[in-house]
Amino acid sequence: MKTLLHICCAPCAIYCKESLKETGHEAEGFFYNPNIHPASEYNMRKESLEKLSNSVGLKVSYISDLQFEDFFRKITFHEKDERCPLCWMLRLAKTAEYASKNGFRGFSTTLLISPYQDHERIRSIGETVAKKYSVSFVYKDFRPGFKESHQASHEMGLYHQKYCGCIYSERERFDKVSKVS
Ligand code: SF4
Repeated sequence: MKTLLHICCAPCAIYCKESLKETGHEAEGFFYNPNIHPASEYNMRKESLEKLSNSVGLKVSYISDLQFEDFFRKITFHEKDERCPLCWMLRLAKTAEYASKNGFRGFSTTLLISPYQDHERIRSIGETVAKKYSVSFVYKDFRPGFKESHQASHEMGLYHQKYCGCIYSERERFDKVSKVS
């Protein structure tokens, strides 16, 4: 089955791509992440994925670079409560729409590999947007492969980010550092 894989970053994509392949999915990547700030960080993650894509032969579609406004319009006034679910919704809805318009029967996301995010909420959002665009949400619990995927990525010399993506998550990272120092 031709499946579109939303990719948040290269390190998470390695295992997800292989796991989909093992269960009969012909995966293509999709990079739409207007939540990644600033532009220098966005470009490092994008270039890292391009490197992976060339090295393992994974076709990836990149959607309109640096659409920060999409993210801020979606989460404004919800920075402290529903910011992350709205961020997942934004990215997965675009993935579902692209899948529907480009002949994919289903889509999935590397967000499902993260042990740090609300897995069940991501699943629920994926299923909701799938219905809206009449495609299947390919649910897989990729979390058992998280360490393996990141280890492989280190061995390939790919860039590893230090925070989730948005400027709020970067601030939280510095808050944590200042609390322990
Ligand atoms: S912390 Fe991560 S998931 Fe949450 S809003 Fe920021 S980039 Fe999106």
